[in-house]
Amino acid sequence: MSFTTPYFTLPKFTYYKPDNVSEALSLLKQHNGKARVLAGGVMLVNMMKERMALPEAVIDIKGIGELKGIDITDKGVEIGSAVTASELQKSEIIKKRCQPLAKAASYMGDKILQNSVTIGGNISIGMPSTDGLPALMSMDASLEVRSADNVRTIPSSDLVVNIGRTVLRADEMITKIVVPHTEGVTGTYAKFLNASEVAISTAALSLSLTQKKLRIAVGAISAKPYYFDQSLLGWKWDGHLEENIKTSVEIIGSSVKPMSDAVAGSEYRREVSKILVARALKDLFGGA
Ligand SMILES: Cc1cc2nc3c(=O)[nH]c(=O)nc-3n(C[C@H](O)[C@H](O)[C@H](O)COP(=O)(O)OP(=O)(O)OC[C@H]3O[C@@H](n4cnc5c(N)ncnc54)[C@H](O)[C@@H]3O)c2cc1C
Repeated sequence: MSFTTPYFTLPKFTYYKPDNVSEALSLLKQHNGKARVLAGGVMLVNMMKERMALPEAVIDIKGIGELKGIDITDKGVEIGSAVTASELQKSEIIKKRCQPLAKAASYMGDKILQNSVTIGGNISIGMPSTDGLPALMSMDASLEVRSADNVRTIPSSDLVVNIGRTVLRADEMITKIVVPHTEGVTGTYAKFLNASEVAISTAALSLSLTQKKLRIAVGAISAKPYYFDQSLLGWKWDGHLEENIKTSVEIIGSSVKPMSDAVAGSEYRREVSKILVARALKDLFGGA
């Protein structure tokens, strides 16, 4: 390989750095499906170097102030899509009210990459091994999706259609993530990696004892994370914890259809998922 191979060079494109969201959305519309949003750039730049993405325009959104906030509002916790993994881990709001996300962010690449990786970019690539989506699903988060002409809200569980494919149209971007009702909610995030640091399975959990709500998302085992709530798990709030955990793990184990790939076989992923969920449930209820 030489330094003139595509892997060291970027294809030609026009670079834009809009000051605000409206300008970014107008540019997306103007380029009619041929522009890509650049957030942290961690994935997009590599995809362009490898000629897997050849946009005629790149719209850099990481400096847009409107996309950088973490706020408590009447809707819950609102997180701008350009907030980085490092910022999520440092935020007192996220650490206190969105624990699965704070922990998931600590897995989004190494410490240096985490200064660039954004939550919007992390979930938009639609890769099973990324950590943001299961964490958001376990908290019933929704996504604000905007185009120049429209604003819509979608549940985080509806974002991914298949590996690398989302419901986002070419003229749309995620502007905000809304995590509802986080007062008094506890949560955790667990991940099992193989020797090459590739995810075999992940489990994101959130629990509200006062509202009697338990949510579990199991990620990295299929195109999109699996979602379970207390009714799907047959959770009995007045029952024995050990019995509840056993039933939940059995239900999850028999419901999921894990993929087999070079990283791990389907049955191995299923067993690892069951162990992760059982341990995470014990931790969560132990600390509740
Ligand atoms: C070696 C390595 C290891 C990694 N390990 C992990 C890991 O274990 N877990 C993990 O979760 N992540 C991991 N990551 C990070 C992850 O793979 C992605 O690279 C990263 O999350 C992309 O985020 P970004 O902000 O850089 O997105 P970008 O690269 O800027 O964009 C990615 C894609 O999303 C689109 N996009 C970006 N923002 C938006 C938006 N707001 N709305 C709509 N579309 C948007 C872009 O157009 C592009 O198509 C790793 C990365 C590397 C390089």
